[in-house]
Amino acid sequence: MTIARVALPVATAQFFDYWVPSGFELRVGAIVRVPLARRRVIGVVVELLEATPVAPEKLVPIEELLALPPLPDDVRELAQFVASYYQAPPGLALALATPPAGTSPTRTRDPARPLALTDEGRVTLPTALARAPAARALLERLLPEGAVLEPEALAALAPHLRRVLAHWRRDGLVSARVPRREAEGELRLNEAQAQAVASIDAAHGRFAPFLLQGVTGSGKTEVYLAAAASAVAAGGQALLLVPEINLTPQLVARVAAALPHARTATLHSALPDGERRANWEQAARGEADLVLGTRLAVFAALPRLSLIVVDEEHDGSYKQHDGVRYHARDAAVWRAHRLGIPVVLGSATPSLESYAHARAGRYARLVLERRADPRAAPPAIRFVPARDAGRDDGLAPALMAAIAARLERGEQSLVFVNRRGFAPSLKCSACGWEAGCPRCSARLTSHRAPMALVCHHCGHRERVPRACPSCGNVDLLPLGHGTQRLEQALAAAFPGARIARVDRDTTRRRHAFADMRARMAGNELDVLVGTQMLAKGHDFPRLTLVGVLGADNALYSADFRATERLAALLMQVAGRAGRAELPGEVIVQTDFPDHPLYRALVRHDYDTFALDLLGEREACGLPPFSHLALVSAEAHRREEVDRALDELHAQALAECREAGLAVDVFTPVVAPLARRAGYERSQMLLRSAQRAELQRLLAAIAHRVAASPQRRVRLAIDVDPAALA
Ligand SMILES: [Zn+2]
Ligand SMILES: [Zn+2]
Repeated sequence: MTIARVALPVATAQFFDYWVPSGFELRVGAIVRVPLARRRVIGVVVELLEATPVAPEKLVPIEELLALPPLPDDVRELAQFVASYYQAPPGLALALATPPAGTSPTRTRDPARPLALTDEGRVTLPTALARAPAARALLERLLPEGAVLEPEALAALAPHLRRVLAHWRRDGLVSARVPRREAEGELRLNEAQAQAVASIDAAHGRFAPFLLQGVTGSGKTEVYLAAAASAVAAGGQALLLVPEINLTPQLVARVAAALPHARTATLHSALPDGERRANWEQAARGEADLVLGTRLAVFAALPRLSLIVVDEEHDGSYKQHDGVRYHARDAAVWRAHRLGIPVVLGSATPSLESYAHARAGRYARLVLERRADPRAAPPAIRFVPARDAGRDDGLAPALMAAIAARLERGEQSLVFVNRRGFAPSLKCSACGWEAGCPRCSARLTSHRAPMALVCHHCGHRERVPRACPSCGNVDLLPLGHGTQRLEQALAAAFPGARIARVDRDTTRRRHAFADMRARMAGNELDVLVGTQMLAKGHDFPRLTLVGVLGADNALYSADFRATERLAALLMQVAGRAGRAELPGEVIVQTDFPDHPLYRALVRHDYDTFALDLLGEREACGLPPFSHLALVSAEAHRREEVDRALDELHAQALAECREAGLAVDVFTPVVAPLARRAGYERSQMLLRSAQRAELQRLLAAIAHRVAASPQRRVRLAIDVDPAALA
């Protein structure tokens, strides 16, 4: 009898044995469906055996062998590495590599031919337009079914009709042909781009990590695409990872245009399961040449993988913050090393980790110094005092004047503040009472439309009190400025302006973000107000002003990565302004214009700033000069949290002593957010200059964490944490 040892998506280090019914042609890596307790779950065969220690009467058969290609060796090894490095159950890590369960959709859209609706694109109306009869009737008056809408006619359409077209495009009812100029697949590269591509091409077939550092607008994407095109032309598959928010129809269209003969598949956690599974299969069967995906796609099965690209490698969305807390960039480098292929990490503002690797010569550094469009000068950057900003609306007079000037010229502005809601606090003017969350040690954010007090940590929501619950005073003041308040202030100051707000509250609907972008690109908006969602890679040719509010908050944050993140954010935001022939301007409201970060921003000089910051990190023994792990504990009662961490602390110290490990085991402390959603929280930091020694200690205590009978305390280990909070 053959026994299959199967990894299942459950929080245990253990595998599960099943017998293999005759007729099943199982291989290691096969994806199977098995019974577990009363459920049926999808798992991965990790070993085939002749015998098992499980008693025969307890042994049950594998229920189904899914008609999917088995996971290749390198993917299984990647999952094993991730499980062991990030101290996660191996079954959960392998589950990241399997496609969503269910059946593939019968109707698949051609992923290589996304539907782009641009002013240059041509739109074809098919005969099967079923939905939206009113809008359809309108369009039918304009053109017969099956007709082609030329770019000029498209541009002449009324905005609401273009919006209807955009919806149809999204639903797959109309198709857009990519303009011929681009469809020829000619990537025109400038000298710096061509050199970068040549270096990557030359590394074909061996492990070679590259850091591609290029200012916003310098054309990193062309480099990725040209390198991917050569990899595909040589018979390989290329994997292009992008941050969640960057995987847009525009990007997919651009890829398809640049590689007209390559078969492209996207892998995105927001795709409907059926579509994601179909795309996963195309990748795993080697039918897709280029896979474009987010974090999770680093685990995609790709039998001919010969190049990995990680775009915006510094981006926080590559790190998973719960479950298996892996970092997709680091996993990508590991996978490239295992396969012996090149990996390109691209960014305008590289993470200090990658930057340090490049400086030490471990990564080859490729630099694109200039914007690809020689007409596009970098924006001018101005600082205006934040404290002069109107007390109520938060917008400095200089910024208001600059917005007014843009409105007059028919140009667009973006106002950036990293807080959603109306105001981050509600305070009593008489006694100083502040609205707090009953379940967290945090203040409640005041929201309008609908009016409520909301906790941004646990989602708790309550009515706004009519009077101070402490003293009865009715004069409650919203303090600080969120996106809603700025939107309101701008609407009051510029009554004719078309203003839109972009934050988590306005983009919950599935296509809301894409709709906003279409309206901005179609010149249907004058001012965008929003959070960091606005910072990332998109071009609006008429956007010439960016205002930044509230950035100072991050300068004095307790989190050691806060300034690095702010630098990346500001340089990206600044890169939004003035990308074509219209010069751009950035206005930052700050009370600390001499801070090194702002000085670096003015000179568009990330390198000096990064070197400064590296010096600071080295002096403090922080990453990349050390390796960290954060052990966190939460429970309903503070004593339980304290006891669990104190015990773990003592165990860790003893372990270090016995095994002679050079790891700093810090005393447990209360977490920066001491209570969240009713749970008391504490944490313990572990640090070592030697990754291997830290790993040995983690392996020892992870075992004890798992063996701990105290189920009432939730313990978790975060290796290479993104923040110490
Ligand atoms: Zn009061
Ligand atoms: Zn809360």
